[in-house]
Amino acid sequence: MDNDYTVLARKYRSQDFTTLIGQDVLVKTLTTAIKTGRIAHAYVFTGIRGTGKTSTARILAKALNCLSSDGPTATPCGVCENCRAIAAGQHIDVIEIDAASHTGVDNIRDILDASQYRPTNGRYKVYIIDEVHMLSTAAFNALLKTLEEPPAHVIFILATTEIRKVPVTILSRCQRFDLARVPVEVLKKHFAWIATQEKIELSDSANEMIARAADGSVRDGLSLLDQAIAQTGGHVDEQAVLDMLKRADRGVVVGFMKTILSGDTGAALAMADQIYTNGADLTMLLGDIMELTHWATRMHPALSIGDAGNSPYTAEQREKIIQMDSHVTLNTLSRLWQVMVASMPEMQAAGNQKQCFDMLIVRMMHIADLPSVQEILKSGGVASQPAKPTPITQSTTKKISTIDELGAAMQAAKEIILYAYYMANIEICEITDGKITYFDRGGNADFPHKLSAWLEKYTGKTWKLNAATESCHVKTQTEKTQQELEADPLVASAMNLFTDAEVVDVSK
Ligand SMILES: [Zn+2]
Repeated sequence: MDNDYTVLARKYRSQDFTTLIGQDVLVKTLTTAIKTGRIAHAYVFTGIRGTGKTSTARILAKALNCLSSDGPTATPCGVCENCRAIAAGQHIDVIEIDAASHTGVDNIRDILDASQYRPTNGRYKVYIIDEVHMLSTAAFNALLKTLEEPPAHVIFILATTEIRKVPVTILSRCQRFDLARVPVEVLKKHFAWIATQEKIELSDSANEMIARAADGSVRDGLSLLDQAIAQTGGHVDEQAVLDMLKRADRGVVVGFMKTILSGDTGAALAMADQIYTNGADLTMLLGDIMELTHWATRMHPALSIGDAGNSPYTAEQREKIIQMDSHVTLNTLSRLWQVMVASMPEMQAAGNQKQCFDMLIVRMMHIADLPSVQEILKSGGVASQPAKPTPITQSTTKKISTIDELGAAMQAAKEIILYAYYMANIEICEITDGKITYFDRGGNADFPHKLSAWLEKYTGKTWKLNAATESCHVKTQTEKTQQELEADPLVASAMNLFTDAEVVDVSK
């Protein structure tokens, strides 16, 4: 690398409308206006950082003042005296003001007073006010006065990342353009082209990662690329970008999510250790799991609205997500999402992110596997659940003679509604093979029919069910599991950590 290295964002700054990245609508509107001579006295460009607001402002200034034609042109030549001076930020009639450092009314008033004089070398005096929302109220008022009666030779171009902080009185006098976040595909194409120009190696997956991290900003993407080139000496591959972004590989993230959903807490915690040791930033990792949860929701068989082609995952990873989805309900995904959203501020504020993250995992594990109250209610509860044949056939009948076997059998047969009701309401007073004495706290008249029908199908024989009229003073399965869970020191500390924590669901 040579010593006078110019940052890519500056080196490859768009110089005319044809090379402006990802702003097709703006380009079309603006060039048409220039061609037809409809030039406004004030423009406001808004959009997130790095989408090309000041680049567009400079191109517009060139279009207005280019010497290659008799009047404003949509295709400034880029080589005449005016074009070159504007590109270098040195044109006497194109005044760039950073509102962040000129917020005072005196500054602005001086600048505006000078606008009364005719341009020296150009057709128009162009005032480019960057981050205009930073101006003080008095400064805005001074600007407003000029905007109300602008001299014929003056054009204002205001740029801002925060349009809501610009007074409506100002906005109403401007033609407004919203610069869009640049799509990942467009960024990738641009970065790949730059890599060719710079003769550096940029792998497709590394490019993809940079383009996604740029989040719509050309400039942010190019600074990442700058950094990656500096760190790798020009061989930018996926691993280099992962290291730079302190991110875990997407494949690892998918595997991690799968482990969380599998219910194996030990394995999930061990995996978190490994990812952490490999240098990933845990807040980023949480963000990645949230992104995955979002895509898993969109690709879920119940919705299938995920635009698979637009997801950040490879075909192989998508296949894994779809497999994962088939074991998970939308409701579970939604609740996992809620827990993660709630944990994000905690993660960002936590002194020890690793502790915080471990506790989050424990919490996620315990909500990952059961239907929620809403799901049970939505499906009508036990009472109105139509009796449907279970997939278990006579040839695969099994024996049940203990409480543990009873619960496990219901789960295995995917009798989720029956199982949930049983867990929450039923006291098993006595159980032997073929006979159960129970007390139903919920007093559901359908329960014995559902249970005996299922038991018969599952075990291949008729069961004798005795409904006790009074409680036999034993715990329901939910109460038992909850008690065990709360006795678990890890869960106890998780509950201390999450202020609103309460063991609401239990798995197994
Ligand atoms: Zn020119």
